[in-house]
Amino acid sequence: MQKNKPVVKKKTISAKQTQRHVHEFEGSTKLAEAGADRHNHRFAGVTGQAIRVGRSHVHEIDLTKTDFVNHFHNLRRIRTGPAIPVG
Ligand SMILES: [Zn+2]
Ligand SMILES: [Zn+2]
Repeated sequence: MQKNKPVVKKKTISAKQTQRHVHEFEGSTKLAEAGADRHNHRFAGVTGQAIRVGRSHVHEIDLTKTDFVNHFHNLRRIRTGPAIPVG
């Protein structure tokens, strides 16, 4: 019998936990139109909660507005790809 048991910290996520993780995101649109009207927009927000898809998960962004110059655009119903491991 080993007297001094190694301390193992377990990170367990309760199955009852309904709150799933989200991501913050930001970016900018590509330049649109030509000439004087050429412009782009920046946007930022928080994704929806993780949605299980097979062994991975995706997120949806229901609605985000871009910043505005003299107008703005809506980003609607965007679905991310599955998680990409980065270590
Ligand atoms: Zn995620
Ligand atoms: Zn625009």
